[in-house]
Amino acid sequence: MKVARFYAPGDIRLEDVAEPRAGAGELKLRVRNCSTCGTDVKISRSGHPNMSPPQVMGHEIAGEVVEVGAGVDGWAPGDRVQVIAAIPDGTCPDCRAGRPTVCPNQLSMGYQFPGGFAEYLIVPREVLRVDGVTRIPEHVSFAEASVTEPLACVLNGQELARVGVGDTVVVVGSGPIGCLHVRLARARGAARIILIDVNAERLRRAADLVAPDLAVAADSADPVQAVLDATDGRGADVVITAAASPQAQQDGVRMLARGGRLSLFGGLAKDAPMITIDANLVHYRELTIVGVNGSSPEQNRRALDLIATGAVPVADLITHTLPLNRLHDALDIVARGEAIKVTIEP
Ligand SMILES: [Zn+2]
Repeated sequence: MKVARFYAPGDIRLEDVAEPRAGAGELKLRVRNCSTCGTDVKISRSGHPNMSPPQVMGHEIAGEVVEVGAGVDGWAPGDRVQVIAAIPDGTCPDCRAGRPTVCPNQLSMGYQFPGGFAEYLIVPREVLRVDGVTRIPEHVSFAEASVTEPLACVLNGQELARVGVGDTVVVVGSGPIGCLHVRLARARGAARIILIDVNAERLRRAADLVAPDLAVAADSADPVQAVLDATDGRGADVVITAAASPQAQQDGVRMLARGGRLSLFGGLAKDAPMITIDANLVHYRELTIVGVNGSSPEQNRRALDLIATGAVPVADLITHTLPLNRLHDALDIVARGEAIKVTIEP
């Protein structure tokens, strides 16, 4: 079968390898869609500390069960399923305290386990043990289901930042994650959504699709002033930075209303993770700054439900569909910011 394997930064190879067999406690899937994201581009360029090369990449996985290993109940060949990316161990103190997204023993599909840029993949017992496989409803396509994983991360971010009814929400970054944030904030009852990007062309394309109440091109306007002007000087209840930008994080603090919450959704480059903020703004205005690390299996199930019920439509966010042998092109398209979502059909 064909796979795309990461060997080293800049070295991803399309290879023919033997088809895997489902061992005890495992499922074998025919991968139907595995979507790409900014993390795949980051891995292809700089690698990742959790990556054990050579490794099949791809973690936004939807497919069809073709083989059920011994001892696995509840699944049968032909079942359409979606698979989690981040795998908590389910047993450590953090997992038992209800924080599986910060499980220190977390493993990931496409990092420690072969991922979805392949014709077939094995769902390891570690995934099944934490209920990491979800049935895809009949009317949801494999491509839509592959967007479940990023949406689950967005859901985790908005739960931690307590996005709710009546909020003014600022989303900085209009890539696929920013678009999902706009759609989910709307579904959660946000009253007003402001989308900001430094790239005016990308912002226009995203705004055409997800229709924020206001779009601010940060290359030509001061985004902090634009948010204050749009809120009668009050600021936003929630700011979400869906961009690897220290400036966006620093600006985010200054955009917040009293009692506001800043979600540092996008991480920063690992060699430049420091920012400078006015701590007295945080102090006197009772601001909250929250991080976010992936999503839980339970959030993953709810994310697929949000897609299935139409609360968060994703079909129109999938702008490019490419075969596995064009993965390099797909990653280039993602890197250039020309697409919203690029999905691979192996
Ligand atoms: Zn754990």
